[in-house]
Amino acid sequence: TMEMTLEKILQRQGFGSRKLCRTLVRQGRVHAGDVVCTDPDRRFETDALHFSVDGEDWVYREHLYIVLNKPSGFECSHQPQHHSSVFTLFPTQFIQRGLQCVGRLDQDTTGLLLLSDDGDFIHRYTSPKKKVPKVYEISTNAEIDESQLEKLKNGVQLKDETGMTKALSCESFDEYRMRLVIAEGKYHQVKRMVAAAGNRVEKLHRSAIGGFALEESLPAGEWRYLDVNDLNKLD
Ligand code: URA
Repeated sequence: TMEMTLEKILQRQGFGSRKLCRTLVRQGRVHAGDVVCTDPDRRFETDALHFSVDGEDWVYREHLYIVLNKPSGFECSHQPQHHSSVFTLFPTQFIQRGLQCVGRLDQDTTGLLLLSDDGDFIHRYTSPKKKVPKVYEISTNAEIDESQLEKLKNGVQLKDETGMTKALSCESFDEYRMRLVIAEGKYHQVKRMVAAAGNRVEKLHRSAIGGFALEESLPAGEWRYLDVNDLNKLD
């Protein structure tokens, strides 16, 4: 358990500078534990603290752990080049807190994207040493044949990469659809692997990371907080 001044709480939750947070409180725009509090120096227990700012409800969170069903046409970057940023899908408070993507999906890739403001967590799931399996659903441009699947499983040579890059597993469902599981997160890895095997990715969707699968009920463009149970499934 932890106690903090209301000013510090607001700052930590992404409501801006110390000065701005003090002003918010002084102006009577902040409720904490259901009553208005105009003293920025008043201390509150942060654990499960409910507060509101300008009538909007929040629960104190030490860190952000989020799953987004990424829609097509969004870049995993704070400075997008040609499309919108995935960060436009979140409250500005999250950006202020330093929300980052845990690995990147291409602009035109959909599905499971994790985001967090916890540096250790981000590092843990993006480090090349930690080989967390990532599951991709692929639609191809040309018919899939057995030799392509064999190449993906046995390893393909990607330009500018040393050694062979292998799928952990690879299976097809029909002539134009396959599921590929990879352990790394090399640049455009799935598209490059499929191209090296003699086909082309038409559509790419990430459906799982480790034992954590994206639920069908989360629509594209929507996000939710991860709970302890979800976090445990990741490794
Ligand atoms: N591999 C790709 O080629 N693109 C992605 O978005 C993810 C993995």
